[in-house]
Amino acid sequence: MTENESPPSEQVDDSAPQTEDSTEQFADVSFQDLELSDVMMASLEKAGYEQPTPIQAGLIPRAMAGVDVVGQARTGTGKTAACGIPILERLTPQKKNAAPQALVLAPTRELAVQVRDEIAKLSHGRKVSCVAVYGGKPIRSQIEKLQRGCSVVVGTPGRVLDHMSRGTLDLSSISVVVLDEADRMLDIGFRPDIEKILRRCPKERQTLLLSATVPPPIERLSKRYMNDPESMNLSPKVVAVDTIDQFYFTVTGERKFDLLVRLIERENPRQAIIFCRTKRGTEKVFRRLKAKAPSVSCIHGDLQQTVRDRVMSQFRDGAVQYLVATDVVGRGIDVSGVSHIINYDMPQFCDDYVHRVGRTGRMGREGVAYSFVLPEEGSQLTSVEQRINILLRRDEIPGFDPLRASRLSKPKSSEAAAAAPVEEPPPPPPSGRRMKRHRRGL
Ligand code: AMP
Repeated sequence: MTENESPPSEQVDDSAPQTEDSTEQFADVSFQDLELSDVMMASLEKAGYEQPTPIQAGLIPRAMAGVDVVGQARTGTGKTAACGIPILERLTPQKKNAAPQALVLAPTRELAVQVRDEIAKLSHGRKVSCVAVYGGKPIRSQIEKLQRGCSVVVGTPGRVLDHMSRGTLDLSSISVVVLDEADRMLDIGFRPDIEKILRRCPKERQTLLLSATVPPPIERLSKRYMNDPESMNLSPKVVAVDTIDQFYFTVTGERKFDLLVRLIERENPRQAIIFCRTKRGTEKVFRRLKAKAPSVSCIHGDLQQTVRDRVMSQFRDGAVQYLVATDVVGRGIDVSGVSHIINYDMPQFCDDYVHRVGRTGRMGREGVAYSFVLPEEGSQLTSVEQRINILLRRDEIPGFDPLRASRLSKPKSSEAAAAAPVEEPPPPPPSGRRMKRHRRGL
């Protein structure tokens, strides 16, 4: 099993109480208000950050004051810099071969790399180095980097633990620990690793925990390992997805691919991520799409890390137009040019819908998301709608019947086998958000 795609061991409870949204009060805060150093102000200017995002305006002053914070924050909100800025501001100058002063734990390799890059970007003008440690890459080069000394280590819990047991990562000088996407880390079974790591960090440290949701297991973790933490809800209530136009098609399994092709022809996306639920499904869609479109890649947990890195960087640079992916890239990965999200398969968990769809419309850009819903997946669609508090609009492509069973081929794959036989033509599409559920034909 990969770090990214292990089955959930501790499910996030979406119904868990959420702390009160406090983003609005931070709308007018400027970076000057945060009393940052000149070197930090210069690196923010270089990064092109003009104003703090609400999470930065809320979290930075508290983190600079040294308190522990449980921040309810989603991806795409600037949460990495919200932790990275205070870490950098509070570091003591880096000495040669020195042990790291800050440790960031992240659930996936991609997120670890992204956090490392963001911290490197914000370190402009400082003698600070940040090392990412994660599985799937030879450990040797990571050991060499750690031995040369660094101020910040970002890693996935498994690999951090590995370095600890080899004696190649010294946590005795850690003064701040960040648990990034803590709910996701618990979801994929990292809780014992996280606890072992936290127990080895000095007691006199600051701990910042960021999580999209704060269900009871996260609360328990924070009670046990944090020092009188302050809770802040730094996510807008209607998750980043309220600026994203969201549609769905009711479609049989065997018509999904044709629908994808027709949708792409109609939309001509600048860049799209096509999410599938399984690695095999991802490969299959990738292969079929590659025959139809020139610029297609795929990413999932079975691919070698070097391949995944290359695909992500090509996608980030715009060299790849269509990325077929499992939820590996659904969380945290920051690719700002994505105009379209296509949920070829509905996600297993509502939270994954939010994370997938949050890959578009980032930092105020416009985006659109389409979900392919099997006739028997009506209740999953309803749960997603309840989660985001928005009704998805039904879409259709004139002249294309997404429910018509093909007479030429019998369903063979699991994807096709999932298709229910359809006896009736679909009802006419309702318009607008306030449609009634029985009109969906689900
Ligand atoms: P994150 O939520 O940390 O994944 O950040 C999402 C994206 O927002 C990243 O590309 C950051 O580089 C970018 N970003 C973070 N803070 C700001 C800011 N204050 N202004 C503009 N972009 C930002």
